[in-house]
Amino acid sequence: MSREKVFRIAVLPGDGIGPEVIAEAVRALRTVEQQLEGVSFELQEFSVGAGTFLECGNPLPPETLEACRQQDAILLGAMGLPSVRWPNGLEMAPQVDLREQLDLYCGLRPYYLYQADLSPLKGMEDGRIDFLIVRESTEGLFSGRLRPMELTASEVRDQMVISRSGSERLFRSAFRQAMGRRRRLTLVDKANILPSMAYFRGIFQEISREFPEVETEALYVDAASLHLIERPADFDVLVTENMFGDILSDLAAGLVGGMGMAPSADIGDDFAVFQPAHGSAPDIAGRELANPLATLLSTAMMLDWLGHPETRRAAGAVRKAVTEVLVAPRNRTADLGGRLKTAEMGSLVTETAARLLSREAGNQPGD
Ligand code: ATP
Repeated sequence: MSREKVFRIAVLPGDGIGPEVIAEAVRALRTVEQQLEGVSFELQEFSVGAGTFLECGNPLPPETLEACRQQDAILLGAMGLPSVRWPNGLEMAPQVDLREQLDLYCGLRPYYLYQADLSPLKGMEDGRIDFLIVRESTEGLFSGRLRPMELTASEVRDQMVISRSGSERLFRSAFRQAMGRRRRLTLVDKANILPSMAYFRGIFQEISREFPEVETEALYVDAASLHLIERPADFDVLVTENMFGDILSDLAAGLVGGMGMAPSADIGDDFAVFQPAHGSAPDIAGRELANPLATLLSTAMMLDWLGHPETRRAAGAVRKAVTEVLVAPRNRTADLGGRLKTAEMGSLVTETAARLLSREAGNQPGD
């Protein structure tokens, strides 16, 4: 069959459960590819992370970064191990380096409650939680994270950097996301205490005038944490700085089933990285316990972002497959209270997605 469009994907499995969940993403891409017309994926694997540091002294070798720049998208597992640290005690975070190096300023973290029983909240219904956190990913309180630090110093300061250009592009992206959803955008800040956050809010208000169709509100980060638990169904899109986004993302994941249910994308003007929101989870690595759904849903975000009608069709099928698979209470990995192993969950979703695509095309599976 002639293939018109080849998408080149850099695959970065990384550390801990990264390779296990990425194996399921690769399986999904290889399988759904068979059902797509005129589209194929060229997957190229690169070594990154704490394991790579132990081999060559750099968790993100420059040649890997350069190779990533040549691809259409980057699919990442998880990076970092608590046992492998810089001399000052900080963990290696090449995924954060990637965001900064590739200027991936817009972190997209969607939260959707596929099944009510996955939420620790009472009185939930399927689909009732459905919001998106847009996290600034190149500045904020993560700025200066690479500055030298002496453990014996009498004082150490971190730095919150909020730039006008960084905030404007972030807010425009968040408003555009809201335009494609339910048109509600919540700014999360700490404008009552921190000057940087008052500045952030001022820029938000300016940019909001460009999007009169979007209803806005602003919440302090402490109040936002409470409201996310008390009234999660009211939120559509939330936008915030780097560190607040980091913290609220884990809280939000807890509302919909935990880290194994939280996909993410880090998008810039030229590049994009797709990865589950969780880390390398060394406590469960190598035991076939990792839930691959966050990675499969991140893969769906990538397929959407690639923007071809066929890849979008595949993205829809993967999401629908996750919905269908989770309807049966037996289809749960250990983190969701079940017994499925990583590969069993991955296969179920992949086979269901392929079947859905095949049905749409009017074919029988295996045609
Ligand atoms: P980081 O510091 O990079 O956020 P971490 O390894 O400290 O990473 P996470 O991996 O994000 O923390 O997750 C915390 C815990 O949640 C893990 O130790 C693990 O028990 C659980 N967890 C995370 N991801 C998954 C997953 N995909 N499937 C099952 N359990 C998971």
